[in-house]
Amino acid sequence: MTDLTDDYEDDRFGSAGLRLTVDLTAMTDNWKDLARRSGKARTAAVVKADAYGTGIEDAGEALYLAGARDFFVATVDEGVTLRLYAPDARIFVLCGIWPGTERRFFENDLVPVISSEEQLAFWMAVLADYGDYPCALHVDTGFNRLGIDMDEAVALADDVSRPASFAPVLVMSHLACGDDHSSPMNRQQLESFRRVSAAYEGIDSSLSASAGIFLGSDYHFDLTRPGISIYGGEAVSGLANPMRPVVTAEARVIQVRTVKAGQSVSYGRAMQLTRDSRLAVVSAGYADGYMRSQSSGGVPLRQILPQGGHGFIAGRRVPVAGRITMDLTIFDITDLPDNAITAGDYVELFGSNVAVDEVARSAGTIGYEILTSMGLRHERRYIAEEE
Ligand SMILES: *Cc1c(COP(=O)(O)O)cnc(C)c1O
Repeated sequence: MTDLTDDYEDDRFGSAGLRLTVDLTAMTDNWKDLARRSGKARTAAVVKADAYGTGIEDAGEALYLAGARDFFVATVDEGVTLRLYAPDARIFVLCGIWPGTERRFFENDLVPVISSEEQLAFWMAVLADYGDYPCALHVDTGFNRLGIDMDEAVALADDVSRPASFAPVLVMSHLACGDDHSSPMNRQQLESFRRVSAAYEGIDSSLSASAGIFLGSDYHFDLTRPGISIYGGEAVSGLANPMRPVVTAEARVIQVRTVKAGQSVSYGRAMQLTRDSRLAVVSAGYADGYMRSQSSGGVPLRQILPQGGHGFIAGRRVPVAGRITMDLTIFDITDLPDNAITAGDYVELFGSNVAVDEVARSAGTIGYEILTSMGLRHERRYIAEEE
């Protein structure tokens, strides 16, 4: 492994309260794996939300160097940043285009994803003023989030009076239940999207995010759009996750304290100690995205899901003790040998020993939210295997 940070950054990383390590080799291996699973279809990379918290600059560049030439971002700002790292790639902007942003699209060669009637009307006006420019068309097949109505999309395809400058390079839709392979919704959306895709014959079509890739070749069309699987997260529930973990989050132990049986820990006395205990206080809390709902007790979620969060240190899993606070979390390290841990050591919050999706489950959410909530208060470093 090569550490891609310089010495100054290394010093900061070595003493950071919270640090994130992003394994770019694991990330690009995951993308290549998804490209293989996508068969004949091309495979894009979805890098919205700062590449799911991993950093759009480094992640974008690594994925570009691995061969990705189609990217999806959510906003025009993300597209402008990505353009510097993916010079000749096609960059689609999922939230579409708004009056006042068209210059930024043109200057940075970004492709708007047109996803409402209003955007379509505005886009036609833009084309009348500026001439030919590519776009993508997002068609709703049942998600009811973004996308123009299916019948309208089909009618538009057949409309001989539409402007010749209207030139979609992609028609796309999005699955509502891709993460649940037993859902009949997948088939229904597939059938609907086949109709759309047939109406736009000769234009690339795209239906599947990460989860849809695992539904099989029927769902691949011309282009797949994985996000979470590139970053090692779980896309399909109830299926072993075949992706390599990409992100490791670690928090520094500020203090180890010994507490007698009968005492309590943290706000609300949420944990009552039944034995003499040792506790490690680490410098990460809910303001850093280590969610309060993972507390061992004293939060409503524990009445539904008894299991609170766990960290990993000195070869062992250690449970969160009491409530997670804004900047600090307490772990119960009583079961570790005395002196196994001292101030300055790091607890893995998630990574290769505690999956990000396990953290998500104990917080009552999904890995996506954990990855994209890591906040601003961490040091990040990138590692890669040597070529
Ligand atoms: C976010 C997003 C994706 C990527 O989804 P994952 O589940 O992270 O793979 C693909 N397509 C659209 C429209 C999206 O919004």
